[in-house]
Amino acid sequence: MANILKFEPTDVILVKAVAGERITPGEALDVYRYADFVKVMAAGRAARSKINDTDVVTYTLFRIVNYTNVCSSACSFCGFHCPPGGPAGRVLTIEEIFEKMQAAISAGARQLFFQGGVNPDIPFDYYLDILSGVKEKFGADIHIRAFSPGEIQGMELLTGKSAREIIRELKAAGMDSMPGAGAEILSDRVRAILSPKKISVSDWVRIMEACFEEGMYASANIVIGSVETVEEIIEHLRIIRELQDRVGGLLSFIPWTFQKQTAKFPIRPVSAREYLKLLGLSRLFLDNVPHIEASVLCMGHGIGELALHAGADDISSVVFEENILTSYGHGTEEDARRFIRNSGYKPARRNLLYGNAD
Ligand code: SF4
Repeated sequence: MANILKFEPTDVILVKAVAGERITPGEALDVYRYADFVKVMAAGRAARSKINDTDVVTYTLFRIVNYTNVCSSACSFCGFHCPPGGPAGRVLTIEEIFEKMQAAISAGARQLFFQGGVNPDIPFDYYLDILSGVKEKFGADIHIRAFSPGEIQGMELLTGKSAREIIRELKAAGMDSMPGAGAEILSDRVRAILSPKKISVSDWVRIMEACFEEGMYASANIVIGSVETVEEIIEHLRIIRELQDRVGGLLSFIPWTFQKQTAKFPIRPVSAREYLKLLGLSRLFLDNVPHIEASVLCMGHGIGELALHAGADDISSVVFEENILTSYGHGTEEDARRFIRNSGYKPARRNLLYGNAD
C-alpha cells in the first residue's frame, strides 16, 4: 500500500486533475491501479469544490413505479424480471399507476420514475397513455423520468420507428427526462457474460445521443463488482466523457456496485477503498459532468458519508418504491436531511433536473 505522506508518481496526475487539466484514460488507469485511495478522495473533494457549492449536498424525492416486471433481457444479476409469457409477469393498469402516484404526492413527491423491463408484449400506445394520463390527472408540473435505453430499443423493435422518433413522441406525451440505466459496464465482453440479450454498448450510446439530441437530460451510472477488469472500468468512463463532449445532456454520474440478487451471478465484493477511489476518480475524470452521486442505497451510510468527502455532491434519493435493489437508503426526507447534516453539509432539496426544490 502506498504511503500517503510520501510522493508517488500518480500524485502528479491528481494535482493536474485538480488544477483543471483533463487526465487521459491511461493516467486514470494508473490512478485506479496505483494511487492511494485517500489521495484520490482528497483530490476528488478538491475538484468537487471547484464545480459545486462546497457546503451543500443535494437530494431529491421521487416515486418509482415498476410498470412491468416482464423483461426479455434476462440479465444474470436481476432478481426482478420475469420472462415474457411467464406466469408471474404483470403490467400495471393506468389506475394502479394513479394509485401509486397519489400516495407519493401525499408524501410530498411530485416526481415519478417509470422503470420496467423490455416487455415485447406492451403496445407503444400504453407508454404514451401512461405518460399523458399522469400529466392530465396530477398536473403538467409532475416530472416524469422514464424508460432506459434498453426499453427505448424495445420500442424501436416493436414499432419500426427510430429512437429519435420514439423519444419525440414520448416527450410530447409527457416524458421529461431519461435514466441512463442499463449501462452497468460499457464493455461488450462483460455484457456477453452477464447480460448477453441486453442492449449493446453501441446501441446504448446511440440511444443516449438520440435522447440528448431531442433536448432531454439524463444521468448515467457504472456498476462494478463482477467480472469487469480495471481497463474496462476506465473504458466505461472514457465512453461517458466522450458522449458528454459530443452531445452533452448528462446531469450526473453514479458509481454503484452490483448487489447479489441471483445465485448464478458472479459477484466480486467491492471494498470501501475501491468504491471510494472510483468515486473520486469519476469526479476527476468526468470534468464535463456536473454532479457525482453517492450511492447510499448500495454502500450504506458509513461509506456513503465518506463518498461525500471524496467528490460526491448528491446522495441517492428518497425513493418510495424500489423493487430492484436492497435498500440501505433513506426512508423519509428527514432521514436524508439528517444524514447530510451529520456528514458535515447543508442539505438542499433538488428536482430531477438539479434545480432548487427547497
Ligand atoms: S436488469 Fe433491467 S434489463 Fe436486465 S433483466 Fe432486469 S429488468 Fe431486464
